Amino acid sequence: MSERPDFDPSTLVIHSNRSYEMQSNSILFPIHQTATYIHESVGVTKGYGYSRGANPTVNALEQAIAAIENTATALCFRSGMSAIHTLCMAILKAGDHVILSDVIYGGTMRLFHQVLGNFGIEYSYVDTSSAGPAEAAIKPNTRLIFLESPANPTLKISDIRGVSEVAHKHENILVAVDNTFLTPLLQDCLALGADVSMLSTTKYIDGHNATIGGSLATNDEKLVERLRLVRKTIGSIQTPFDSWLALQGIKTLPARLDVHCSHAKQIAAWLEAHPRVAKVNYPGLDSFPQKALAASQQKDFGGMLSFELDASTEDSLRFMNALKLCTCAESLGSVETLATNPATASHCDLTREAREALGISDRLIRLSVGLEAPKDLIADFEQAFAVVFGSKA
Ligand SMILES: *Cc1c(COP(=O)(O)O)cnc(C)c1O
Repeated sequence: MSERPDFDPSTLVIHSNRSYEMQSNSILFPIHQTATYIHESVGVTKGYGYSRGANPTVNALEQAIAAIENTATALCFRSGMSAIHTLCMAILKAGDHVILSDVIYGGTMRLFHQVLGNFGIEYSYVDTSSAGPAEAAIKPNTRLIFLESPANPTLKISDIRGVSEVAHKHENILVAVDNTFLTPLLQDCLALGADVSMLSTTKYIDGHNATIGGSLATNDEKLVERLRLVRKTIGSIQTPFDSWLALQGIKTLPARLDVHCSHAKQIAAWLEAHPRVAKVNYPGLDSFPQKALAASQQKDFGGMLSFELDASTEDSLRFMNALKLCTCAESLGSVETLATNPATASHCDLTREAREALGISDRLIRLSVGLEAPKDLIADFEQAFAVVFGSKA
């Protein structure tokens, strides 16, 4: 440490801690909670000018995400939605057309319905489970195909390889995949042919429900520069603190995913065998109609499933309210098992008819299977069945 300079206290409170180099050898990457960076001489910096453009702690998270995306770099955003929004702002203009998977996160629908639609962006929902309907939906002004697979909340699988192939017969169409449910460790979208991989880092990357965040990764260097420019311009970069928290979470992602997959498989099989369960959507089950497509593009089946009880909507919601260990909460991908009712949560903006056409009944329950012991989760389901159905369960 340098000697305390002989300044007035009013000057020292501002300058006593100024340090130009890291001095502590702390094992964790530090939180660079700073708005701006010192110019060593006018115009000379260490590559950082202002934290709306770039920040070392955000960059540390970006390097960790780039490592699992197998790209040179990745970009982090204030939320998953701001990642999607920034992508759209970077590549679309008024009059352009976007193809969206028909089953997709409710927030993505809202972005197009309530925001981008007002700026002259056209969009259509298409069944992307095979290449044919996507190819037929391509128009001269189509610029982006945005897939989500497995999709929220029915786990519908998009044919990422097939859709990318038909898209790339056209010079100007980019394919982006919302890979939040699996992460690149379980589904390498870019290797399957997509141009952009998008994650809500809020979910499995953070893994502990501590932050909201998003990321984009691509091998297209020009697109990276365009995204950087738009992010800096609209201010959608992730914060240093949230980056730092997610940076701790991502360290255990591979280990956590193994357990999420293993537990979800056990819970899905148990639910499917239960006499009060009418249907389980889990791509790893033999009964899942798109199991082969899932297996052809995923390394495993993930930690998400949804199911319907053989009961009324009212009884299904009573079942959810009776759960004690499973937590009723939005979000997914965390260490805790979370249950949601998509009809009243993520997909509440849609009409009942629109939801039913997509396989989202009012009684559908979505489960993000956490890291608790499966036997304890099963005991929780058993007591909830008993609360709703009594000894008939
Ligand atoms: C949560 C989620 C998003 C949005 O991410 P936020 O971080 O909440 O903004 C987008 N897609 C999927 C599949 C999600 O689960």
